[in-house]
Amino acid sequence: RHVIWLPVWMHEQVRVCLEITQSTAPTSHGFDVITGIFNVYQNYQSLLDYSERDALTGLLNRKTFDEHLLRFATAAQTSDHEELPWLAVIDIDNFKLVNDRFGHLFADEVLILVANLLRNAFGTQHRIFRFGGEEFVVLMPPARKDAALASLEAFREMVASHEFPQVGAVTVSVGVAGAKLCSPVEILGQADQALYYAKENGRNRVCQY
Ligand code: GH3
Ligand code: MG
Ligand code: MG
Repeated sequence: RHVIWLPVWMHEQVRVCLEITQSTAPTSHGFDVITGIFNVYQNYQSLLDYSERDALTGLLNRKTFDEHLLRFATAAQTSDHEELPWLAVIDIDNFKLVNDRFGHLFADEVLILVANLLRNAFGTQHRIFRFGGEEFVVLMPPARKDAALASLEAFREMVASHEFPQVGAVTVSVGVAGAKLCSPVEILGQADQALYYAKENGRNRVCQY
């Protein structure tokens, strides 16, 4: 038994290996063909990954949102009443002022740092998107209301207490809606309304629809 292991590189990490088992040792030509095809496959994978991510923050981009939302809505239909999937819209407060006062470069750095805080705050079960300029969306796996709200509150606090280089303090407002049996677009609209409410009522807060 002859085994070839081909590590698949993504973001300078190996998470997956392709294993090829043969009863005879591969010829050097056979090995060249295998590695050639494998390199094409790996380039294809990185292109796919590249097209799904936002260049500045590395988060998922809006293009992929619809597809994820569909899967999210399906989960909503199968989950029980105690635990719902949640959709949160997160918007940086007064970000225009950050741009005006400190310039684009420092403002862009704030976006990158907020994206990092999002990645730290939410696990692999969550899907995190950069939705627009300074707006992010988190699709949260089924959880009880208090647990979902607590994790968003913890994130809000994490941002508020973070010292951003040069800029200092930055806050975010969060609107969140539970995925009841309604259409994905409705859930997004509800989270947006909750965000609007948060903005109208002092910012730097989490509001539920
Ligand atoms: P609010 O608290 O109501 O959300 O106020 P705001 O200033 O954050 O909201 P507004 O929608 O008025 O402005 C958003 C600003 O975000 C406008 C633009 O200057 C800035 N912005 C959007 N995308 C980017 C980006 O990619 N980089 C930088 N540096 N700024 C961005
Ligand atoms: Mg804003
Ligand atoms: Mg905005």
